[in-house]
Amino acid sequence: TRHAVGVASGTDALELSLRACGIGPGDEVVTVSHTAVATVTAVERAGANPVLVDIDPATFTLAPEAFEHALTPRTRAVIVVHLYGQPADLDSISAIARRRGIRVIEDCAQSHGATCSGHKVGSLGDLGAFSFYPTKNLGALGDAGAVVTNDPSLAERIRELRQYGWRSRYISQTTGINSRLDELQAAILRVKLRHLDPENERRRRLAMVYLKELAGSGLRLPVIVPNRTHVFHQFVVRHPRRDVLRDFLRTREIHTLIHYPVPVHLQPAYAGRIKVAGSLRASEEAASSVLSLPLYPELEEEKVSTVIRELQAWSPPA
Ligand SMILES: *Cc1c(COP(=O)(O)O)cnc(C)c1O
Repeated sequence: TRHAVGVASGTDALELSLRACGIGPGDEVVTVSHTAVATVTAVERAGANPVLVDIDPATFTLAPEAFEHALTPRTRAVIVVHLYGQPADLDSISAIARRRGIRVIEDCAQSHGATCSGHKVGSLGDLGAFSFYPTKNLGALGDAGAVVTNDPSLAERIRELRQYGWRSRYISQTTGINSRLDELQAAILRVKLRHLDPENERRRRLAMVYLKELAGSGLRLPVIVPNRTHVFHQFVVRHPRRDVLRDFLRTREIHTLIHYPVPVHLQPAYAGRIKVAGSLRASEEAASSVLSLPLYPELEEEKVSTVIRELQAWSPPA
């Protein structure tokens, strides 16, 4: 993209992206319930109303038809989350959004370096929001984020908003916040950026081993979609007896995580209050069956083989 503006976190990157588009109170922003809660937090912090829709069960990303059904005259933006490193169906979503004059914001916090029809995620919507929290594919040693865009006026708005709304020093053009990217984190990221592509390649290679060896194991495996490069922020399998499987792996000293155990619309802070559009069955089903297997660039192939061996040996108790 032509512009990248550093900010303090991924949540800020999303909030400021919405605010740069002039989105706030009374406006609706469509996004998914099966995501990191920060996606939704950012919408409310911008003063707008989140509208949560279902995912495509194959890719865990926003279902274009669910988005279309959620549209109202108040819909101003859609936040497309490229979850687990898997690019969402941006072509379909953007086509719907463009027809209706709706802004497309990409949540790229889990998908640094992923591509969609040959284009890097973050470059396809109006704005792309990145987090560089230490656990992400590109991580600093503390909190950090960035907004990328090809639109010079949106970039300018983000620059103002991240520093008290200043256009020139000490003169606030609008009401901004303090969301500067810390310089030490920026210096670290500048070096680590060079390692992103090779590290993603390593993640992909390990993922291919899992995919090949776990075919026929009874686990539902991640899908590879033509024309989209998955960067495997997480390697997420599904099984109806997920909790039993997780306990078994723990006894074999294999550490797994659940991303995420409760969809946003069922979380105590949001349940009953947040607007949902249509059925969220695929999101609820995902929450009850997903399991993230160990996968990171430093992981040794031997360890991957051990995980595979244990998974092949496991069968759910009757
Ligand atoms: C991590 C994450 C965020 C938030 O980023 P922070 O830097 O923690 O504020 C937003 N969306 C998704 C999908 C994330 O994974």
